[in-house]
Amino acid sequence: MKSLKSRLLVASFAAVGLSSLALADEVVVYSARNEQLIKPLFDAYTKQTGVKVKFVTDKEGPLMERLKAEAANTPADMLITVDAGNLWQAANQGLLQPVNSATLNANIPAHLRDPKNLWFGLSVRARTIFYNNQKIKPADLSSYEDLANAKWKGKLCLRTSKKVYNQSLVAMMIEEHGEAKTEQVVKGWVTNLATDVFSDDTKMLEAIAAGQCDVGIANTYYYARLMNKSPDLPVSVFWANQNAKGVHVNVSGAGIVRHAKNPAGAQKLLEWLSSEKAQNLFTDLDLEYPANPSVKPDPKLVAWGPFKQNLINVNKAGELQADAVRLMDRAGYK
Ligand code: FE
Repeated sequence: MKSLKSRLLVASFAAVGLSSLALADEVVVYSARNEQLIKPLFDAYTKQTGVKVKFVTDKEGPLMERLKAEAANTPADMLITVDAGNLWQAANQGLLQPVNSATLNANIPAHLRDPKNLWFGLSVRARTIFYNNQKIKPADLSSYEDLANAKWKGKLCLRTSKKVYNQSLVAMMIEEHGEAKTEQVVKGWVTNLATDVFSDDTKMLEAIAAGQCDVGIANTYYYARLMNKSPDLPVSVFWANQNAKGVHVNVSGAGIVRHAKNPAGAQKLLEWLSSEKAQNLFTDLDLEYPANPSVKPDPKLVAWGPFKQNLINVNKAGELQADAVRLMDRAGYK
């Protein structure tokens, strides 16, 4: 018969075993993406693997503040957010840890992930030119830079420079052209504005449809949603800069939290999110493009035709964000 002491020892080993099992079977995600965009994914992951995914959704600012405040006590294993500018901020504040994964390196192209592997793009958001197809021919269009040309005076609509999407676009232009040329372009845009800047991409696309302006710049998923609702609007997509570096792309993506309790589980989830099955779910829910190039986009997106992406690493959108904000301010872009 075993002594009480050894029985207690066995019991405590069992308890340790159970608690580590519970941890291994659960991943905690802080997400700046809405519940409706992530829950179907996590449900599919749980169904496939048995691993539970708990999540908290909020805007990226509060989530990052929370990670900082919780530090080593955070329950979070993974952070999901949109825009490389935001992912860069999280990495720059020391909130993420590097992930060395052959799967992620194979599934996600180099320009869509952090050079130090602190975060990985999971969907591609193309920010390109839209035009009123009753007023403009595609042959009239060429590049973001061309929208600064005097021929567009009083014909351009833009979303506010306060939105990170435009900060990222201008940051990538600084990387490509330098500050002086980029400032000239942004000043030209401001001179060409048909009306005050818009608070969101959808309102700007509606202004193009209404003939308030002829051209503008927006993310394609806003266009897809708008056309789902009102298929007769006279607005078309134009793939910008195809004779130059390509369309400005950005990402939604994820990284593993520096103080993750279950980094191995988080890595498995992140790898799964880059897989074909998850990429289809992830991108179809918000009509974005898959980051994994072997995955086909939603048929609605395929219908717009293929396009060349700008291959400059989207990390630059973060690195040069503060410079972009200052430049847009100097150029009078509100
Ligand atoms: Fe958006």
